[in-house]
Amino acid sequence: MIHFIDSHAHLADPAFDADRGLVVERARSAGALAVVCIGESLTAAERAAELAAEHRGFIYATAGVHPHDAASFDPRTDLDAIRELVSRGAVAIGECGLDYHYDNSPRELQRRAFASQLALARELSRPIVVHTRDAEDDTAAMVAEAGSAGVRGVLHCFTGPRHVAETAIGVGWYVSFSGIVTFKKWVDDDLIRAVPDDRLLVESDSPYLAPVPNRGRRNEPAWVSFTVARVAAARGVESETIAAATRRNTIRLFGLSIPSESKS
Ligand SMILES: [Zn+2]
Ligand SMILES: [Zn+2]
Repeated sequence: MIHFIDSHAHLADPAFDADRGLVVERARSAGALAVVCIGESLTAAERAAELAAEHRGFIYATAGVHPHDAASFDPRTDLDAIRELVSRGAVAIGECGLDYHYDNSPRELQRRAFASQLALARELSRPIVVHTRDAEDDTAAMVAEAGSAGVRGVLHCFTGPRHVAETAIGVGWYVSFSGIVTFKKWVDDDLIRAVPDDRLLVESDSPYLAPVPNRGRRNEPAWVSFTVARVAAARGVESETIAAATRRNTIRLFGLSIPSESKS
């Protein structure tokens, strides 16, 4: 069994309300050493904080506002709410970012909410979790600017294009792959190989994007092992090598202190 860290799971999602405890237990049994529970709204972030308190040393929470909800983002109140969640232990800002695929919020408002959260990450010296879809130019520009100012973060569930990853890596950022890399339609192993060993993360993005062989089902952190194996195959190394590298990187990025990792 490999030991991995799921760097991005929506465990606060109502999809897990009926059996969340079992999902957490299955993650542990499958080899997960930690799960970063994403608060993609203030409501989700509150629940993520509760889960982190309940599973101290295993679940770590984040707090932010997703680009889908950028239209209702109010910097006067929402930034204070995120600040408060960070003071209570949230390890990162986010997820936030830009999604021009769904355009659920006007792009101008998405950029404003993203810029506000990048500025907060800088102010608090915290990492940031970034979602980007069909918004490569704006994402690259904003990440490059924030990264040059010292902000560190991760492009989560990344699928390309490669130049955006290279821009992020160039300013000290990380790139995370999800179960999408196990799908039959995935053809970009060059992208998987383009990320240096010390910048690579893996994630479930559960309850979405279950990897093959569970594609189409509700996803859960236990299945990150399939993504680890696929990333390892693309890079021509053992799964354990990828599991170890992504563990170290997730711990470094988010400043996690994981009891079972303290010796390594
Ligand atoms: Zn996302
Ligand atoms: Zn997410």
